[in-house]
Order: sequence, then C-alpha cells, then structure tokens
Amino acid sequence: MIEILTPAEVDKARRTGALVGDILHSLKGRATAGVNLLEIDGWAEEMILGAGAESCYVDYAPSFGRGPFGHYICTAVNDAVLHGLPHDYALQDGDLLTLDLAVLLDGVAADAAISFVVGTASAEDLALIEATETALAAAIAVAGPGRKTGDLSHAIGTVLRERGYPINLEFGGHGIGTTMHQEPHIANDGKAGRGYTLRPGLLIAIEPWVMQGTKTLITDKDGWTLRSINGGRTAHTEHTVAITEDGAEILTRPSA
Ligand code: MG
Repeated sequence: MIEILTPAEVDKARRTGALVGDILHSLKGRATAGVNLLEIDGWAEEMILGAGAESCYVDYAPSFGRGPFGHYICTAVNDAVLHGLPHDYALQDGDLLTLDLAVLLDGVAADAAISFVVGTASAEDLALIEATETALAAAIAVAGPGRKTGDLSHAIGTVLRERGYPINLEFGGHGIGTTMHQEPHIANDGKAGRGYTLRPGLLIAIEPWVMQGTKTLITDKDGWTLRSINGGRTAHTEHTVAITEDGAEILTRPSA
C-alpha cells in the first residue's frame, strides 16, 4: 500500500515526528554508563503514553520476529543493529547504542533512529555513525516531487560505498503514514532513475545502516535482535520525511 496524505494529515505527521524526535533526544541525554536498557524502554513507555500516543512496536509481530515485540523502543548495542530487543543490560562506557522508535499519534505514525556512543568514543565508531548520517542527508537532499526512490537509494549507496562499508539490501527505508511500514521500499543502494516516483503528501522513512566489515546479519537467540555475523560494530540513522511541493521536510527532528 502507498498512501498520499492530505495537508491536514501531514500536519498531524509533523506533531508525531516532533514527539519521536523529542523522545529520542531525551533518551540520548539519559543513556549514560550504568543505565539499563530496560530503564530506557520504561522511559520511552512513559513519554509515549504521557503524550497520548501509541507504540507501533508493542504488538508488532511480523513474520521475521518471534511473536509480539512487547517493548516500546529498539535498543541495539555494538554488534546489534536492527530490531534490538531491550533486555537486562547496563550500558558501559564506550558502547555504541542505537535507539529506533516509531509511534502513532492522532492516527499518523513517525519513525526515527539515532546511533551514538555512551561516554568515550573511538574514531572507528564515530566514522560508522557519520557514514549513516551523511548517507541520510544525501538521500534527503535529492528527495522531492518527481524524483525516484532509486535516486535516494543511489545517494545512500554512494556515500556508504565511498567509505568502504558493505551494504545489506534486506532491510531499508519505507513508506509510512497511518501505519508504520508501507510501500515503497527504499533500499540502501540502487540505481538512480529507477523505482517509484515521489510526490507531495508521501511520507517516507529513510534509514541507512551499516556494519563494520560485513553485510550479513544473524538473528540473536532472543528471536528479534539482528547482529553483524562477524561481531563488527554497527550504526543506523533514520528520519521520517514528508515530500512537499518543492522538496522534502524532515519531520522527526527534536522540537527544541
Ligand atoms: Mg523504519
């Protein structure tokens, strides 16, 4: 399904997006060494429910996961990159943490992810994070009416390839609207000029992610968390953007 939102619905998406951005910003500030991933999940729950929003994750039960997710946020540490199931783990200095959050507010969803280092950061970790942030910015820069999904894929892939990171094409960006995951799929590499033509009112979540030295994922024994097969560290950056009359508007920035 591909949804084209009305201007009133895009307005709602702006409010959902700001909530997602604000929650991620707040959690980043609180995710210090010693903090448990389950505490972060609890803080996410408080902020989502306190804002009158709904989690897109708690009851999420796709074919690739084991039953309902049952938590409010994805927390992925070091070699974990996608669908990180919060578990009893206290963050340590130097951990590379990814938080991925999608919520529904007033019937419209928004989805975003950030990666950052807890405490002391290595140059290698900062380079991984920078690659995904730069790839996301490159895709947003080419997004607009008349452009193709392949243009965005190509922009992402070009940045990641230049930096020497292998690219996994199994999981990528997606349309979003009254539900979290919709068509079109936006792979993290591809051919410019191919794919679906973007138009005003389309909302897309763009999400470059990388793993050091591999493009192969393995599923953790928890049935959800996806890790790099070689134990290499990982990063993931995501924004939800709205296609406008003359470009693309980032919806999931913190409001302050
Ligand atoms: Mg997403």
